[in-house]
Amino acid sequence: MVLVEHRQGAVRDVTFEMLTAARKVVGCSEVEAVLFGDGCEAMIAGLASQADRVTYAAGPAFKDFNYEPYQKALVKLVAERKPAALLIANSAFGTDLGPSLAVALNAGLVSDAVAFTKADSGFAVSRGMYSGKLVADWAVGAEPAVIMVRQSSFKPEPASLSGEVVRWDAGDVVSGGKTKFLSLEEVPTTGIDITKATIVVGIGRGIKEEKNMALVKEFAQDIGAVLAASRPVVDAGWLPKEVQVGSSGKTIKPKLYIALGISGAFQHIAGMKGADTIIAVNKDPKAPIFAVAHYGIVDDLHKVVPVLRTKIKELAS
Ligand SMILES: Cc1cc2nc3c(=O)[nH]c(=O)nc-3n(C[C@H](O)[C@H](O)[C@H](O)COP(=O)(O)OP(=O)(O)OC[C@H]3O[C@@H](n4cnc5c(N)ncnc54)[C@H](O)[C@@H]3O)c2cc1C
Repeated sequence: MVLVEHRQGAVRDVTFEMLTAARKVVGCSEVEAVLFGDGCEAMIAGLASQADRVTYAAGPAFKDFNYEPYQKALVKLVAERKPAALLIANSAFGTDLGPSLAVALNAGLVSDAVAFTKADSGFAVSRGMYSGKLVADWAVGAEPAVIMVRQSSFKPEPASLSGEVVRWDAGDVVSGGKTKFLSLEEVPTTGIDITKATIVVGIGRGIKEEKNMALVKEFAQDIGAVLAASRPVVDAGWLPKEVQVGSSGKTIKPKLYIALGISGAFQHIAGMKGADTIIAVNKDPKAPIFAVAHYGIVDDLHKVVPVLRTKIKELAS
């Protein structure tokens, strides 16, 4: 069972990541997407091709996210369906809901999961620990296993199922509620989403000064990449927080990640090690980034970047 996460009328990518992961679980007979919302019917078609069943409950109680109605509805639905596992995104939304829901279900819970398989009894779930320095494997014996899935841990894949659509009555999910939704206040953003970019150029403290940012900005523009950063660059205010890669930033899986002047602290690696190809430029041959890079250049980035720019332009023309 996969809980559909949506915001302002759009299903969030993590839902499709979870549905893909669920379909791949060996021994899983059926994938059910569960959608709660007010006027959420428009989202059903996009889900029905991805799941064997889409169960939805619609009504004002689900207009805005509040963990209480979700929790009450899921306790009822889980009792009816008895799924082996319930997948919830490890998002702000999911972390609000998952733990108290697991308590209400008397179920086992693993948060921030990056992989899971069905075991003889229950599920085996992997999650990062100590800011991604370790990956720990957990056995969850009790059913359902509540698995809170880290965003960008799985690549969403298309599917062509024609899932049965079931309108389901959640009953009274409001009475006795102690919390209420007040408002959604969006943080102003630049609109850059590094989790969706194909090519990402990551900038680290090796850039030294803000004035040197012009060089890497032009480089990124030339090669059709978006700029991302390690934490010190964000802390210095040279790039916005929304482009920070790592355990306290975003997890990305681009086709190509070019790390410029980044040492490769484990908190940074946690956010980019899933890139298909990693190229690192660092003047220190012992920098830990080279342990995860597929290609490495040991030199001063201020010398290397202009050469790369020229070479790529030559090749492109
Ligand atoms: C709780 C916690 C959460 C954190 N979360 C994150 C996170 O989400 N993301 C993150 O990135 N960090 C995070 N950090 C910080 C992390 O531990 C590192 O301090 C940080 O990643 C280092 O950034 P850096 O590699 O840019 O800088 P440094 O470690 O200072 O490395 C700079 C590198 O640049 C190289 N260099 C210097 N000059 C040049 C040059 N001219 N040309 C080429 N190379 C050069 C150096 O050899 C060095 O390897 C977190 C830390 C904590 C404690």
